[in-house]
Formats: sequence, C-alpha cells, structure tokens
Amino acid sequence: MSYGFDDEVFEKTHLWHPYTSMVGSLPVYKVKRAEKCTIELSDGTMLIDGMSSWWSAIHGYNHPELNAAVREQLNDFSHVMFGGLTHQPAIELAKQLLSIVPDGLDKIFYSDSGSVAVEVALKMAIQYWYASGKPEKKSFVALHSAYHGDTWHAMSVCDPVTGMHNIFSENLPKQFFADRPNSRFGQQFQSSDIDSLYQIIKENHSQIAALILEPIVQGAGGMWFYSAEYLNEAYRICREFDVLLIFDEIATGFGRTGKLFAANHTSVVPDIMCVGKAITGGYMSFAATLTTEHVAHAISKKSPHVFMHGPTFMGNPLACAVACASIKILKSYNLEQVIGGIEKNLQQHLLVCS
Ligand code: PMP
Repeated sequence: MSYGFDDEVFEKTHLWHPYTSMVGSLPVYKVKRAEKCTIELSDGTMLIDGMSSWWSAIHGYNHPELNAAVREQLNDFSHVMFGGLTHQPAIELAKQLLSIVPDGLDKIFYSDSGSVAVEVALKMAIQYWYASGKPEKKSFVALHSAYHGDTWHAMSVCDPVTGMHNIFSENLPKQFFADRPNSRFGQQFQSSDIDSLYQIIKENHSQIAALILEPIVQGAGGMWFYSAEYLNEAYRICREFDVLLIFDEIATGFGRTGKLFAANHTSVVPDIMCVGKAITGGYMSFAATLTTEHVAHAISKKSPHVFMHGPTFMGNPLACAVACASIKILKSYNLEQVIGGIEKNLQQHLLVCS
C-alpha cells in the first residue's frame, strides 16, 4: 500500500523499522487511527489487530479512561527526574502493582522498557551476590529459545542460535543454556524435562547468579506454552543450589496467560520479576523490576550500599498515570471469565483456520 510518494520515499530513505534493512526494506503500512481492536490505515483500509502491538494494548486502542489519565497528568507535569524527587503517580502505581503481584515482591524499580527491566534484574542478581560475599556468582542460566530483549546483557540470555543475536555472540558474555521443557501447558509433566537444567546448575552453581525464564510461555521463541510444574521444579533447584530465580513477565504479565501473572499458575514467588509492555495498557514505553526485601536489603548492606542504576526517564509520571488507570481497569474485569470467553471464541472460530 502506498501513502503519498514523497513520504514513502522519505520513510524508505531515513527510517529504520524493527529488524529491517535500510536497503530493499519490507513495506510498512501507514496508520491514521486506532480504535479498540481496529487499526485504520491512511487509505481507509480497516485492519483487525490480532497482536495488540506486540501484546501490549490489553484494553484496545484509544481507550477513553486511559486517554483521560494521560491528559489529566499532562495538566500538572509530564516529567521530572526521579532522582531526589517523587510524585503521586509513581506512588499510586506502586500501590496498584503491590495489589496484584505475587506476595513478597515489594521493592520496585521503574525503568523505560522491557529490555532495560531485564538489564536491571541481571544487575540486581549480580549485585546481590557481590554484596553477599560471592562475587564469582555472575553468570546466568536461561532456556534454549528464550528471548529477553535486545540490549547487551539481555541479548546474552537470549537463545544464542535462534535468538536473533547470534552475530554478536563472540562479544557477548557467555551464559548457560538449558533445554526448554517439552511438557506442554496443562498436560502431564515429564520429569526428565528438568534434567538439563538440574545438571547445569548442579555443576556450575558456584558461578551462577540467577536463572532467568519467561514463565509459562516463551513468546518470541515460538509461542511455546509449557508446564507450570517445570517452574515449580526449577524453583526447587534454584533453592537447593543457592541460585536466584528471575521471572521475565514482560510478555506474560497483566493477564496474558489467563491469570494476572504467569507466576500465578505456579506455587513460585521468584526473587526478581520484570514487567513491561502491557503495564501501561500499551500506551507508552515503561517497565518495572520487582524484588523481595531479602534481595533489596542484601544489595544495600555492602558498599556502595546503593543499587547502581538510574535512568533519566525513571518513573515517568505520564507512564505511571496511564499504568495506574490500566491496572484499575484490569482489576475491574472478572479476568478468568473474560479471558475464558476470548479463549473459547478463538478455539471455535480461529483454530479451524490453522
Ligand atoms: N522480555 C520479553 C519476554 C519480551 O517479550 C520482550 C519484548 N518482546 C522483552 C523482554 C523486551 O522488551 P522491550 O521490547 O520493551 O525492550
């Protein structure tokens, strides 16, 4: 579809899109408006959005309550630094998050995007072991087919072959990769699924800071829905060998797997959890890394006594305000009923197309 020759040429000459080339790039479609689950292109074509902008727009586009939350905050101020200052939207969002995340994850670090939230989680794990007198614990275990973001250390815990980043593999820190579970979600768990992870952690725990996982579903790695029992087992192994557990709930959080968080399918509370994407109802880039009092206090007890991270747009008030509004809407749903209805519809009407 073309949308004005001049703009099309300009776009092709100057604008990079995700995972694209600047030479012979794929066509892109110009959006005029988006409303609920539809996207209207500049030539009037209406699209039904089946992927909610990479799983983030959980309430649909152009939602009146979310729009109002941004506008209201804009009247007061759009941003102030979080260093030495605070504001009501940040405090209110923390309260909203604490009302829905698994119990115990009550120390919250805001950041700008999912990848940064993963960087923060990895840094927390390394700083935890540094402060606990075990600085040699600085490697990570992840699963084959994992995806955790595009920044440097996040890339290192993505699948080294299929994870889109293999051309950087020589430069990235080397991590451990365990087989991903074969047991599918809701099916009988095969205990041998855990063997590869067990072996890696047993042999290398003295250098391993944490295991990082996308709980229940590996998204970018092929929408692989796996058994909750695997996560319970992984947690047990982490506890046995003194390895922290990080849940990357950036894709799965805020209802995407049928419960508020994928962790809710398990009996596990991870040591660190990353959330992003749908946190703002898909309105703007924002993320958070949550951890326990135990991890946070350990980090604070040894010099430098502070957590070494602090992005310029940390706790952005517009993002916090829209995130609060989004979580309030989410809490007003009977989530399992709504998602059960969507699931039934997709099974009845979409599965037949596959
Ligand atoms: N972790 C997971 C599980 C993701 O799906 C993504 C994004 N697809 C990220 C991290 C990175 O998030 P962002 O694109 O906001 O940096």
